[in-house]
Amino acid sequence: SAKKKAVSSIEFYSKELIDASRKRIDMENSLRSAVENQEFELFLQPMLDLASGKIIKAEALIRWHHPNGYLVPPDEFIPLAEQTGLIIPIGKWVVTEACAILKRLAEKGEEIKLSINLSPRQVNDRQLFEFIKESVTKAQVNPHHLELELTEGVLIDNYDKVYYLLDEVRKLGMSVSIDDFGTGYSSLSYLQKLPIDRLKIDRSFINEINENSQDSDGAIILAVIAMAHSLKLEVIAEGVETVLQRDFLKLNNCNIAQGYLFSRPVPYDEFCDLLEGQKNKN
Ligand code: C2E
Ligand code: MG
Ligand code: MG
Ligand code: MG
Repeated sequence: SAKKKAVSSIEFYSKELIDASRKRIDMENSLRSAVENQEFELFLQPMLDLASGKIIKAEALIRWHHPNGYLVPPDEFIPLAEQTGLIIPIGKWVVTEACAILKRLAEKGEEIKLSINLSPRQVNDRQLFEFIKESVTKAQVNPHHLELELTEGVLIDNYDKVYYLLDEVRKLGMSVSIDDFGTGYSSLSYLQKLPIDRLKIDRSFINEINENSQDSDGAIILAVIAMAHSLKLEVIAEGVETVLQRDFLKLNNCNIAQGYLFSRPVPYDEFCDLLEGQKNKN
C-alpha cells in the first residue's frame, strides 16, 4: 500500500543518512588523528619557464598517507577539513613543511620557488599570515621563494581583508597567484587593484587545445595572456598534457607551464632527481 511504501522509503533514506553521517564522522576522526600523527606529505609538481624549458618552481600539493595504506588526494579531504576547521592545523603544517623543503633546496644550491595553496577558511584566518611570516623567518627561507595560490572566489568574497593581508606578505617579498583563473565569477576590475603577481589559467581552458581545436578554442587563453601582460602579471598554464599545448602556449608568450607532460606531482626526492636531470642536459 501507499502508506507502507512511504514508511519503507523513510526507513531507506534515514538508513542512508545514518550511513553517510557515520562515514563522515569516521572520516573526521581519522582526519583528526592524521593531524596529530602528521600523516601528510607534500608532493611537488615542477613548473617550467617556457622560454628556457627549465624548472624554476614547484607547486606543493598535499597528500594524506591514510593508515589503511591508501594515498588520499586533497579533493577527498580538503573540503571536510574546511568544514570542520581542521584546515587550520593542516594549513600550518603545510607552511612549516614548505619552509623546510625550501630550506633543504637552498642548502643544495637550488634557486627554486615553491607555491602553496590556501583555501577560503585559511584566508579568513589572520593568524595564518602571521604564522607564514614567522615560519619564513624561523626557517631562514628567502621570502621571495614562497608563493601563495588563492582562487578568484576567495579573493573577491573577502576583498578588503584579503587586500590588506596580501599587501603585507608581498611587502615581505612573497608573491601571490590567482589559481584556477577563469572558472570563478570574476569581475575583471579587481585584477587591477589586487596585490597579485600571476594568473594560473585553469586546466579546463588548456584542455581545449587539441588536434580538433578550432581557433576559437584558444581565444580565451590568448585573451587572458594579453590582459595579464598588460597588467604586468605573469601567466602560468596548469594541466599541460601535450606537446601541442606546450607549443601553443610558448608561441603565444605564456610564461610558465605545469602539467603531466613535464611531470606529475612527486615526492621531494623524485623532485630533486628531476632537478639533477636537467643539469645533466647542459
Ligand atoms: P590546484 O591547486 O588547482 O592544483 C592542481 C591540480 O591539478 C593538482 O591536483 C594536480 O595534481 C593536478 N594536475 C596537474 N597537472 C595536471 C595535468 O596535466 N592533468 C591533470 N588532469 N591534472 C593535473 P591535486 O594534487 O589532486 O590537488 C587538487 C586540489 O587540492 C588543488 O588544486 C588545490 O586546490 C587543493 N590542494 C592541494 N594541496 C593543498 C594544500 O596544501 N592546501 C589546500 N588548502 N588545498 C590544497
Ligand atoms: Mg594550486
Ligand atoms: Mg589550479
Ligand atoms: Mg584546481
